[in-house]
Amino acid sequence: MHETNTFSSERTDEAAFRRQEWCEGGHIFPAHEGVRDYIGGMIDEARDLGGIELVPTLAVSAEPSGIIAADTWERIKLRLLDSLRNAGPLDAICLALHGAGIAETSDDIEGELLHAIRAEFGRDIPIAATLDLHANMTHEMVGHADLLLGVNHYPHSDEYDRGREAIRRLRAMISGTIRPSMHLVKLPMLIPTSTTLFGPAKEVNEACWAWENRPGMLDCTFFHGFPYTDSPEVGASVLAVSDGDDRLAREAAADAADEVWRRRDAFNVKYPSPADGLMAALAADEVPVIINETSDNPGAGAPGDGTFLLREMLAANVPQTCFCHICDPDVVQAAHRAGVGARIEVELGGKTDGLHGSPVSTVALVRMLTDGTFVQTSPMWRGKKIDLGQTARLRIGNVDVIVTSIKSQLLDDELLKLHGIDMLRYKVIGIKSSQHFRGFFQNRVPRIMTVDCPGLSTFDFSGFDYRRIVRPIHPLDRIASTEALIVD
Ligand SMILES: [Zn+2]
Repeated sequence: MHETNTFSSERTDEAAFRRQEWCEGGHIFPAHEGVRDYIGGMIDEARDLGGIELVPTLAVSAEPSGIIAADTWERIKLRLLDSLRNAGPLDAICLALHGAGIAETSDDIEGELLHAIRAEFGRDIPIAATLDLHANMTHEMVGHADLLLGVNHYPHSDEYDRGREAIRRLRAMISGTIRPSMHLVKLPMLIPTSTTLFGPAKEVNEACWAWENRPGMLDCTFFHGFPYTDSPEVGASVLAVSDGDDRLAREAAADAADEVWRRRDAFNVKYPSPADGLMAALAADEVPVIINETSDNPGAGAPGDGTFLLREMLAANVPQTCFCHICDPDVVQAAHRAGVGARIEVELGGKTDGLHGSPVSTVALVRMLTDGTFVQTSPMWRGKKIDLGQTARLRIGNVDVIVTSIKSQLLDDELLKLHGIDMLRYKVIGIKSSQHFRGFFQNRVPRIMTVDCPGLSTFDFSGFDYRRIVRPIHPLDRIASTEALIVD
């Protein structure tokens, strides 16, 4: 699994995968059993159905970042193919993929992988895969899989359910009780990171679910696509799956795609700057207010060391405010060397590239040092063990700042609690995430304030130097009619 932000300068190599997950064979079950993710769902469904032997092969994933190195991608692909060959006689193959992976040698790693597996195992064995809602869907993927199931929700709280569904459907395919027929419609649209909890994406989901409830339908999924990808396959799409009825799948996909297209302008929201958002948050009657810096979301391939919002919060210097968190391994090391109670001079953040603000030069008090490990409690990935490396809680003026060695987006309050911070006693908490944090925080804080500014995951696409995408595409171009543009 990898969501590739092709504009990122952080090349994704094997070390990047090993930092997050590189698990083989029997090591995969202990890492995913009881976790609310795709593989956790697959394991539970196989056990509940009974009579299914799962043969774990390979699980690798990296935090979203830049293009995957050619040799890393080749090694992953060959490793998976080898382990499938050595798995013994198989009745079906079940994969948990992302759908927006790009390597130096491949614009569509998932399509290439499915193609290679199909070439090896032939048409007689059913192949199913779960996919992220941010998949940039391709006809190559659809052509070489029997069933593709995307998450419907953003936050992706239904990864576990899609994992369960994949195993359940594969069993029905093996026994011959269903025969999935997939139809993909691609839209000439870039969609920024949009939640499905409300707004246009929620409305489209409801239209998709109405189709799913029709007799003869198995699935209808709206894929937002991952827009920070300069590749010809980028963009939104709808995949409809019927039970053996090509015409029905085609009709469902076309109708749901129309629901997306009619709402195209509603996705392009303009959010306040960090300065304006912070001012509004500090004036709020009810606290705490979460400010999410959507433009530097490590979960979308941004570096997580951007300083635009942090700098505003430090300038405001208001007591009971906190920034959680910024990635800067150098500063963490300096804090660990100096020890709790020491004051250290720091150049904090802004080191990965020149896009997310310059380093903050300041003096910080070291308040707490930890190993950066905890167990996720958010609806997405509940039960997952997280390791952000050595971590420090600093105090800069009146502001608490948590600094990690490894980048990540904030999904729940575990990192705050690890550093002795009770969020309900704070006025403003600055974080880096676009939507996933809502899964935990939406109903726990009175107000969420999204801020946007230049960065690798901004809502404003106009600053990206797209060279390889197919034009015209919304919202970069004005499109009068989609007749000739919608590909199915
Ligand atoms: Zn996603």
